[in-house]
Amino acid sequence: MSVMSAPQNAFVSFQGVQKSYDGVSLVVKDLNLDIAEGEFVTMLGPSGSGKTTCLMMLAGFETATHGDIKLNNVAINNIPPHKRGIGMVFQNYALFPHMTVAENLAFPLKVRKFNSSDVEDKVRNVLDMVQMRQFADRKPAQLSGGQQQRIALARALVFNPSLVLMDEPLGALDKQLREHMQYEIKHIHENLGVTVVYVTHDQSEALTMSNRIAVFDDGIIQQLDDPVTLYEKPENAFVAQFIGENNQLPGVVDNVSGNVASVKLDQGDIVKALAVNIDGPGSKTMLSIRPERCVLTDKKSKSMSALDAKVLELIYLGDHIRCRMMVTGNDQFIVKVPNTAGPLGLDIGADLFVAWNTDDCRALDCGTTV
Ligand code: ADP
Ligand code: MG
Repeated sequence: MSVMSAPQNAFVSFQGVQKSYDGVSLVVKDLNLDIAEGEFVTMLGPSGSGKTTCLMMLAGFETATHGDIKLNNVAINNIPPHKRGIGMVFQNYALFPHMTVAENLAFPLKVRKFNSSDVEDKVRNVLDMVQMRQFADRKPAQLSGGQQQRIALARALVFNPSLVLMDEPLGALDKQLREHMQYEIKHIHENLGVTVVYVTHDQSEALTMSNRIAVFDDGIIQQLDDPVTLYEKPENAFVAQFIGENNQLPGVVDNVSGNVASVKLDQGDIVKALAVNIDGPGSKTMLSIRPERCVLTDKKSKSMSALDAKVLELIYLGDHIRCRMMVTGNDQFIVKVPNTAGPLGLDIGADLFVAWNTDDCRALDCGTTV
């Protein structure tokens, strides 16, 4: 897996960018984000968190209320969209219905005054790239949704833009096709070396394709990291909850020694956890533990933290069994047990322990002291 760290020379740079539509509330708050040439960066977050607004400012369809957006070190605030040399794909980016596929693809080239033999070559190449050559003479209405989206992607790439923006481009496709297209976009990105800024609310889509992911909430980047770091080392409870599943147990920091905190849970148990970004003793914290890092056991061991756990529900999912447990008053505590040894011989109501390694339990800041 390729992992890129923060770029030295930014190709795209948001510097202190703010956006308000009504002059009162900021939907983008002090956005600072540098993207390197050739990087695939995804803005991931729930609906309304400001992702599309950021992309629209980069494309030039919205203006920033404050701050600068730079492309190749040049502020583009006052450059109109069609002069920014950016390719774009949106969820419902309609192809021209009266034009054939080939004519749709030729359009961005003709606007840019390419000569006709260049246009022919480029259209053929881009059709090969998205494996749609035999559809060149069809009209959009004669294509499936997935095929239309492939042509929309080809149209965004045909003039060799150095930057491509995509806003939920796969949102209208069914799950299987969406996953297939994720791999295709990823491979096209790898082959062309084009810089991509991608917007989605779908975490697995972001994890599949991105070099780095900016997790948005409420107009603020909560964390910007590569997929592995985001999943393994979430910095706050929002990110831990949004990327993958996680069990949360509230408590208060009892003491901190090195990078290990002892945390007193609300029901009195004391457990050890990795001190991520907590304040000292007395501060509130949220423990975050991934369901697949928990084990169910009938005896405690010295090397792992363990809490009493009662089996409430078992769901057989083929490759794993999803166990919903009651753990210190939390009846939504999930443990995923891999199905490597056949179905579990567990009963509803059984009393066990749920255990984990200290390294897999993260004590996250809640921003308040008791
Ligand atoms: P996302 O793409 O993450 O769902 P948006 O950038 O579309 O978020 O929206 C962020 C916030 O800005 C939302 O509260 C939305 O209602 C508001 N908003 C978006 N576009 C406009 C607009 N053209 N006029 C007024 N408010 C808008
Ligand atoms: Mg959006």
